Amino acid sequence: LAVHKAGGTYVPIHTSFPVARVAYILKDAEVQVLLTNLDFETNDVLGFCTIRIDQEIPFSIVDVPNPSSQGSPNNLAYIIYTSGSTGNPKGVLVNHFSLVNFLCSMRLKPGINEDDVLLAVTSISFDIAALELFLPLISGATVVLADDEMLNQPDMLVEAIDKYQVTIIQATPATWQILIDAGWKGRPSLKALCGGEALSVKLAERLLDRVGSLWNMYGPTETTIWSTVNLIQKGDFPITIGQPIGNTQVYILDRFHQPVPVNVVGELHIGGDGLARGYLNQTRLTEEKFIQVSIGYLPEVRLYRTGDDARYLNNGTIEVLGRMDDQVKINGHRIELGEITAMLLTHPSVQDGIVVARSESESVKILVAYFVPTYHSSLEIYELKEYLGRKLPFYMIPSFFISLPSLPLTPNGKIDRKSLPAPEEVLHLTGYVAPRNDEEQLLAEIWQNVLNLEKIGVRDNFFDLGGGSMQSLQVVAKANMYGMRITVENIFESQTIEALAQQLGEVYNNG
Ligand code: AMP
Repeated sequence: LAVHKAGGTYVPIHTSFPVARVAYILKDAEVQVLLTNLDFETNDVLGFCTIRIDQEIPFSIVDVPNPSSQGSPNNLAYIIYTSGSTGNPKGVLVNHFSLVNFLCSMRLKPGINEDDVLLAVTSISFDIAALELFLPLISGATVVLADDEMLNQPDMLVEAIDKYQVTIIQATPATWQILIDAGWKGRPSLKALCGGEALSVKLAERLLDRVGSLWNMYGPTETTIWSTVNLIQKGDFPITIGQPIGNTQVYILDRFHQPVPVNVVGELHIGGDGLARGYLNQTRLTEEKFIQVSIGYLPEVRLYRTGDDARYLNNGTIEVLGRMDDQVKINGHRIELGEITAMLLTHPSVQDGIVVARSESESVKILVAYFVPTYHSSLEIYELKEYLGRKLPFYMIPSFFISLPSLPLTPNGKIDRKSLPAPEEVLHLTGYVAPRNDEEQLLAEIWQNVLNLEKIGVRDNFFDLGGGSMQSLQVVAKANMYGMRITVENIFESQTIEALAQQLGEVYNNG
């Protein structure tokens, strides 16, 4: 709030990002002041001023009347970095008027009033956190910030919903699913906002059994948080994204930038007050994605090309059908597969490679890296994993790395994705050891369900099987439901079923 009042722009950076990515963002955004509670080795190099918010702030509190704000509607409100297909993240520049327009529209629909209590569960590095933080404040409502403990322990999140008498929660489908897996019975007065990824009919139904109302929220970062909203009713099929928010226009266009008829698929384009200025320091990409077009006889308009395939249905609502490119969503995180592939190829012992997202079932999508090591190299998978870990956020690290002598090609020389082997085909489990007692059996069933694998032995490593932090949260939620008290930390400490069961036994035995 202070940054905004001072007329500044905030650039939220997740503290789990590797130093190399943080340094890239700080430099690209020409950050002048860093507010943090961490030590950064890079600040000498980049020469910005660091303020440790967890220590004494080096300002004297001067007794001045409320200073007037330096900001104007055309100031930048924030720069949010999203995955970029060419190897580096890209900064999306959002104006104050876009944020204000968005918040005013959200105040009306889905709606909020001063009696509401919103539980904020999103990291501030995602744009949707702006709804959680600012919407309650402009409406006189209350915002409750979920702390790390609640976010890492689904049953504590469930507890918090009742404890704080929460009336609104905004989350991605993955987070709603975790709440349900944790045995959440629901809250009839709750308004549930679900967005960031397609809402499945199954999840919608499970949520509708638990909440007062459910809204499907759709929108890219480039058009300020959400651009369309839809109140979902029981029996809705297909699930649609509804209609545009205030001062926003949606067009579904063909490749000549002309509207397609109802029921015909085209690319979803968005215009109006939510449009970002563009991408920081990327004029070409900005011109490619934010286009100036004249539709029919209408005057020229500026539109953002979302890259989403969509169609208008007979009732005037919009159905999103999928992506036209290599952008994927995994557990709510927007990922350009090209960015991971580009980084993979920078490893000196990798000659060729590709990263793909495989969906082994409707709800589980995983990243798999296929690589061809350079001749004579003895590249180990853990080295490659560590290498990417130093460059990319945790959610962009592939679950599986598969070494191939060469990538399969189609007759016209393109990579033949269909012939890339499934991880299960090449997974060498370290000798299958079956569960030997009830705890191991239960844990094996939970892991198999979460990781979508048929047979997991008690000595197989959770993280080698494609487990990550989101999957460990799902394991915790399911285990807690069966009365087994485990935490995410337990899984990181004991990475096999055998070790985990043993650790739990020790905890119980020691009281
Ligand atoms: P982000 O910039 O992270 O908000 O990602 C935007 C992209 O996420 C969109 O272009 C869609 O591909 C996808 N997306 C967001 N919300 C929805 C939704 N409710 N239904 C389907 N796809 C969605």
